[in-house]
Amino acid sequence: MPVLVMKFGGTSVATLDRIKRAAKRVGVEVAKGYDVIVIVSAMSGKTNELVGWVNETSKFYDAREYDAVVSSGENVTAGLMALTLQEMDVPARSWQGWQVPLKTNNAHSSARIEEIPTDNINAKFAEGMKVAVVAGFQGISPEGRITTLGRGGSDTTAVAFAAAFGAERCDIYTDVDGVYTTDPRITDKARKLDKIAFEEMLELASLGAKVLQTRSVELAMRFGVRLRVLSSFEEQSDEAGTLVCAEEEIMENRPVSGIAYSRDEAKMTLISVADRPGIAAAIFGPLAEAGINVDMIIQNIAEEGRTDMTFSCPVDQVARAEKALNAAKDADQINFHDLIADTNVAKVSAVGIGMRSQSGVAAQMFKTLSDEGVNIKVIATSEIKISVLIDRKYMELAVQALHDTFELEKA
Ligand code: ADP
Ligand code: ASP
Ligand code: MG
Repeated sequence: MPVLVMKFGGTSVATLDRIKRAAKRVGVEVAKGYDVIVIVSAMSGKTNELVGWVNETSKFYDAREYDAVVSSGENVTAGLMALTLQEMDVPARSWQGWQVPLKTNNAHSSARIEEIPTDNINAKFAEGMKVAVVAGFQGISPEGRITTLGRGGSDTTAVAFAAAFGAERCDIYTDVDGVYTTDPRITDKARKLDKIAFEEMLELASLGAKVLQTRSVELAMRFGVRLRVLSSFEEQSDEAGTLVCAEEEIMENRPVSGIAYSRDEAKMTLISVADRPGIAAAIFGPLAEAGINVDMIIQNIAEEGRTDMTFSCPVDQVARAEKALNAAKDADQINFHDLIADTNVAKVSAVGIGMRSQSGVAAQMFKTLSDEGVNIKVIATSEIKISVLIDRKYMELAVQALHDTFELEKA
């Protein structure tokens, strides 16, 4: 039987009624003759609540216990989805990550998938089971501990299963009917895309568009998985939603395809560090060891052998970053006069493969922000993206202005 992977995100399984609705969608595909692997997220809001409980209990928590707690939301929805399908007379059973077993490395709270054995689930399909419901987001480490794949990780579970089982398609059901030119919550001018290139989706996701987890796009690209994003609230046709596909399949050619934002950024500045060979390694080594996701970096010009070093990281990692840097200072590995954290910044990015062949995109972006009176604090560019760090209070304004200036509402 051909295999289909269907993933339902938090809002799509938020209540028993919605689980029923999702189960009916699964029933439709089973009736077409598919063996279906359903990946479920936790009920919407559940994972946030669990993360909150961990943070309240322990400031610098043991990541293994964090994973033990936050993975639990998916266990509930997996069981409920299997029960709902059984009530519809669809043969189904649930699997938690460790039961598959979905094997990961031991990078707790952002683990990478290493292997998904298929024999266990395939044996059940061979016995006549029609739907394997798998708890998303979770796996098991080489040490036998429960791991999680990072926020939004059920998308990655889904794509990894699609790759492992050679699924015909991986459908990601969510609360929007596809990938838009920007988050439709920020502007109603956002336009749904029928197709988007893997490279662009990868950039948009990594720059904050949480409609797909970055690693899910990476995996889909690597294993050639047909990845589709669509709404669990609307009637579906085979053409619904947005297909994430190879660049060659796309006709549109414009410099910018989408605008992404990331609200919860922080900018940290080390005031007056020695300007000497090895200083960057001395600063960013301890940060890497502490698991800080450093993003943008600037080193200012030096005066009298001293300089300031600025970097950005997620705002919820500031306390850890401060701890790591102060420990390095106490151990005489680095020396700085002050460490300043600006926790009120956001990152806004323009993304498009068309940038490779068109110049002037950055200039147009900076002009637009300047016309709106938005001050740019840090800039980073790559071949197909331009990112700026700005005050968080201007984030929505900046996204809307950039969406207008690059005429993204027009097909
Ligand atoms: P799920 O719980 O189904 O995984 P998420 O909340 O993780 O859903 O992702 C869907 C959300 O992503 C949408 O509600 C939307 O607000 C947001 N989003 C951000 N950028 C985009 C974009 N470019 N296109 C579509 N949705 C986007
Ligand atoms: N429940 C997890 C989260 O909220 C994983 C997911 O939904 O993709 O991050
Ligand atoms: Mg998600």
